[in-house]
Amino acid sequence: MHMNGQTASNPDRNRILKAVLLFFLAYMFGALFHDIIHEFGHAITIWVQGGTITGFYFHPFDSSYNFSSAVGNHMFLYAGGAFIGLPLTIIFMGIALRYRSPLMFPLITAGVYGFISTGVWMIKAVTTPGIATDYTYMIGLGFPAFVFPIIGVIYIAFGMLARIFFLPLVGIDYETRYGARFTVYLAGIIPWFIIHWVYNMVFHGYPELSFVNLVIPVIVYTALETLISLPLQRKVKLFKRIPVQQVKLRHFLIIGAGIVILYAVVILVNAFFSGTPQ
Ligand SMILES: [Zn+2]
Repeated sequence: MHMNGQTASNPDRNRILKAVLLFFLAYMFGALFHDIIHEFGHAITIWVQGGTITGFYFHPFDSSYNFSSAVGNHMFLYAGGAFIGLPLTIIFMGIALRYRSPLMFPLITAGVYGFISTGVWMIKAVTTPGIATDYTYMIGLGFPAFVFPIIGVIYIAFGMLARIFFLPLVGIDYETRYGARFTVYLAGIIPWFIIHWVYNMVFHGYPELSFVNLVIPVIVYTALETLISLPLQRKVKLFKRIPVQQVKLRHFLIIGAGIVILYAVVILVNAFFSGTPQ
């Protein structure tokens, strides 16, 4: 529906609220699901080399870990997280392209979150060499450092374009104006990062992770993606590929159940299968 009036009608407001909630729930599911895929990527490189996984530790808002017996090729081990998730993410996007349901948006968000956060860590590994990431270790093992900012920028750009491409799954298409877009993006994404910040402050007392240097970059990034999303959806044919979807109550119930199951599994793994660092 296209509105010319100054105020949004109730159906429009409803649609925006649903999109905000779907964005938020997609982050709750997607960030943690991405972490699981990432650690699973490391695990595959360990199993392929004949090693044994002795434990996982999943952090809902920060780096997760895996513990294993010693393996021969460490470069492969560190690379596994970022690169083995890639084909899985592409598969999810292929499924979403076929099934076009709001239910696919959390899986899309897992991929988008993975691309963007991995891209950011790859760039940080070069700009801030002191921090411990998979990529700083790879550089330490001789991997050419200049490759990471290049892959990092490609990952971030791909993540951004992929989310814009799938926006019709949450009910946002080329007719959605900037006001509604900013509302959905900011109100749908920022609360997750605020929870992330509060959790880390309360349970880990991270002094170095200030609210400003976590949330400001997220707002800037989000604003940029929002700005480019409208012209892309209006003018580029590729971005009209998915017809706008109606988000229904049952979608929230199914995604909510998915979140409960995912967190329950992670809490159980952390309680009973979290190894000790070796
Ligand atoms: Zn990793």
